[in-house]
Amino acid sequence: MNYRTHSMTGALAMELILVETHAPVHWWSPVLIIASGLSATVPDIDHPESAVSHRVPLVGIIARFLKHRTVTHSLLAVVAVWALLVRFLYFDLPGGMPWDSLAWSMVIGYASHPFIDLFNPEGVQLFWPLPYWVRVLPEPLAIPVNSLREEIVCLIFKLAVVVIGISWALVNLRFHVPVLDSFAWHVIKTITFGRY
Ligand SMILES: [Zn+2]
Repeated sequence: MNYRTHSMTGALAMELILVETHAPVHWWSPVLIIASGLSATVPDIDHPESAVSHRVPLVGIIARFLKHRTVTHSLLAVVAVWALLVRFLYFDLPGGMPWDSLAWSMVIGYASHPFIDLFNPEGVQLFWPLPYWVRVLPEPLAIPVNSLREEIVCLIFKLAVVVIGISWALVNLRFHVPVLDSFAWHVIKTITFGRY
């Protein structure tokens, strides 16, 4: 998947977790969603042409030593990122923003990357260093990078990020929004958020 789909997946995953955990809206809520979206692009530091390799100085060098969709896309890397951010690092953040929340949002974003790459025709070496490549769809149904299918998925995720983000904020901030009382909204809520 390209960086746009990955960042939308990370942002959407974070939003769904905020909704599911009934997290209150804070000034830093958008920061968590953006941090998750940005972290979701990081595993592609193993590709010389990826957005992150192009935009972050010196990162392009890493791609010379790594095979694409291997170590950085593995469960081991997700655990390493979790251990680094949640267990080892700690920063005092301004405005009462909890480091834990920011650290977890970056872990969630990172983890969303190999998950969505499982839908590529090639899959990922999820259990690196074991030599097995995992994919979840048979080749005719898989989603190749930059294909029309990926564009459609990306668009759906983008719309979901906007709709869920805005409605979650409005509900939490106790705005009365007539559309939220409607039958259509009830159906969307049940499909998207599960129990309600
Ligand atoms: Zn990738």
